[in-house]
Amino acid sequence: MGHIQDVSEFAVSLPNSPIGPHRTDLAPEVLGEIDFLTLHSYQDNNARKTINQDLTVPICNQNTENTLDYKSSDKVFRVHVEDENHISLLHELASTRQMDFWKPDSVTQIKPHSTVDFRVKAEDTVSVEDFLGQNGLRYEVLISNLRSMLEAQFDSRVRTTGHSYEKYNNWETIEAWTEQVATENPDLISRSAIGTTFLGNTIYLLKVGKPGSNKPAIFMDCGFHAREWISPAFCQWFVREAVRTYGREIHMTEFLDKLDFYVLPVVNIDGYIYTWTTNRMWRKTRSTNAGTTCTGTDLNRNFDAGWCSIGASNSPCAETYCGSAAESEKETKAVANFIRNHLSSIKAYLTIHSYSQMMLYPYSYAYKLPKNNVELNTLAKGAVKELATLHGTAYTYGPGASTIYPAAGGSDDWAYDQGIKYSFTFELRDKGRYGFVLPESQIQPTCEETMLAIKYVTSYVLEHLY
Ligand SMILES: [Zn+2]
Repeated sequence: MGHIQDVSEFAVSLPNSPIGPHRTDLAPEVLGEIDFLTLHSYQDNNARKTINQDLTVPICNQNTENTLDYKSSDKVFRVHVEDENHISLLHELASTRQMDFWKPDSVTQIKPHSTVDFRVKAEDTVSVEDFLGQNGLRYEVLISNLRSMLEAQFDSRVRTTGHSYEKYNNWETIEAWTEQVATENPDLISRSAIGTTFLGNTIYLLKVGKPGSNKPAIFMDCGFHAREWISPAFCQWFVREAVRTYGREIHMTEFLDKLDFYVLPVVNIDGYIYTWTTNRMWRKTRSTNAGTTCTGTDLNRNFDAGWCSIGASNSPCAETYCGSAAESEKETKAVANFIRNHLSSIKAYLTIHSYSQMMLYPYSYAYKLPKNNVELNTLAKGAVKELATLHGTAYTYGPGASTIYPAAGGSDDWAYDQGIKYSFTFELRDKGRYGFVLPESQIQPTCEETMLAIKYVTSYVLEHLY
């Protein structure tokens, strides 16, 4: 192979290397021949400089289905949909080329008078623009060069190569953090394992609160959808804030004295790892499906709540695949079993996603309204108002089906139907400027404002125990 002086000439995946995931162009015929590559210099994405130092890195096989090895640039479009005719045009477009839907999650969920965000491969962008133009569909290009946007997401000024609350951490780093934060705060945090993923990763849960008997609890999870990186970042931030402000800030002190938070930092660990090593835009789990090479199930379509009846797909190749049965995924089972076993204490269920700046409550699997609809509406209204006080970030709120789109098999609906009266899905920043590629510099403001909403809900729950 000889000496490689510039990693930018080659495609190497560095899943657990000190420089984080990194992939550039390398001829496929070379990739198959070597397992390791010694770099004499490499680009440090975070420090944005070339480091002259020997580094031996594993070469991963490239999977042609995947998309981190952009030869040129993918684009993300936003199309303004007015009527049914526009919807059929988008169906036509989607039937002839690969489209990665960012919002809504699939072509079947497009509604009149809405906007649709989707990514298309670089080689398709011209024909897509032609199609949209010829058919009079109003559109804008949200991201004209996804590749440079992906590089720009690592813009945190924090220099550490280890864990940082202001950076996106890979799973290895988050896993080590769960152990460390529990060890360092034994009076506030305990860590347990609630199951394993399809690929055998341990699903950790942090119980955050002062020890006590018969305490009520709030369950919060992050990282259902692999590419929504701001979500796990928030769960980590929340735990840090709990530890940092307990005993100093009256509200957090009261919360942790009176109740426990169960925080699940990453549900879809396999998918999350995959977004770091192979395909940044991956959404589903990494479980195999019988009779097809298509991989993964959408965990937020896999719960036993109107399962696969609407806004979900029976096709394992779809991004919204509901799985072979409700709770077919080990990750779903782990969450559902834990909640079922702790139903008497869990008073609220919070699940953190991105993007679109919304606070949603049941139902999503049907247009029916929950019994305490008025209460949930008032609570959501208050929470998003509180959130906006910090940076003016505007959230919309309401029942899932009518506010975003119908989608069956979601965890919030399931938790609600288990009897958890306060059940919310948060869709964090932004509204599409960066979408899933939210820069690290937005982690702090996003998490700080979200904390306000979570604390608002927590106060309310404490005052309305049942
Ligand atoms: Zn999501």
